[in-house]
Amino acid sequence: MFDNLSEKLDKAFHILKGHGKITEINVAETLKEVRRALLDADVNFKIAKDFTARVRDKAIGQNVLTTLQPGQLLVKLVKDELVDLMGGDVAGVNLSGNPTVILMSGLQGSGKTTFSGKLANYLKTKKNKKPLLVACDIYRPAAINQLHVVGKSIDVEVYSEIENKNPVEIAQNAIKYAKANGFNLVIVDTAGRLAVDEEMMDEIARVHQAIQPHETLFVVDSMTGQDAVNTAKAFNDRLNFDGVVLTKLDGDTRGGAALSIKSVVNKPIKFIGTGEKMDAIDAFYPSRMADRILG
Ligand code: GDP
Repeated sequence: MFDNLSEKLDKAFHILKGHGKITEINVAETLKEVRRALLDADVNFKIAKDFTARVRDKAIGQNVLTTLQPGQLLVKLVKDELVDLMGGDVAGVNLSGNPTVILMSGLQGSGKTTFSGKLANYLKTKKNKKPLLVACDIYRPAAINQLHVVGKSIDVEVYSEIENKNPVEIAQNAIKYAKANGFNLVIVDTAGRLAVDEEMMDEIARVHQAIQPHETLFVVDSMTGQDAVNTAKAFNDRLNFDGVVLTKLDGDTRGGAALSIKSVVNKPIKFIGTGEKMDAIDAFYPSRMADRILG
């Protein structure tokens, strides 16, 4: 995960290690390399520039050069800033309501269906919830089948209406069904398109409006870098979602989405997906992620 970024940051800090006493020039050089590392990780230019400007200001403010271990202090300032960039504190999922209703949004292929299953399984085992998964993709029968396969693998019931072409009705009926049958968690998996389009946005906005979920999550493939950030913005403009799920972090992602999304939509990353299996889900801890990046 983020190996390239880790390596580049490590190299940037090497500049400091080579000197007995570091100078303002060494700090400037290091921060330039840090900025380059962020840009290489597909962080957008402004975010990367602001990042190093903040670290520089703090370094000046704390008189880094006159401290006993200026190199270490600078690394710490970079770490703190990385944590802030990724959201600061851990953000939990809102489990109020009976049933708690969680709506999944995102593009096709982002990992929504897989994540719906992972989350159902996670909340079933960790929070003792009784989940119902809801298939609201009315366009692709394969997507409905896929959710049934997922549900079966984790022993969670799946609600679907093959003949109904109205996702708002399906979602509403599913919630009624959940109430009548003792489910205290409803996870609604919605249809996604390959790119953001108005029709899809209208549809999910209608479902959102009708069921008033306690939690709306936006699922995004972390391999898509800057595109992930643009898609997040489009969905957030329409849904004002509560949190982000970054999938496929087990792949060779550069890190741009993880590092940029919070500053662009001001919503926390709540979960990460780290594989295709149902247990490949983790809560997102900005501080742990920063530690990992800095090695
Ligand atoms: P949807 O169209 O948004 O519902 O996406 P799917 O859940 O069908 O996922 C698309 C593909 O990505 C599938 O082949 C999944 O197995 C795969 N996938 C989903 N999440 C992850 C993940 O965290 N890591 C990896 N490696 N693959 C994932």
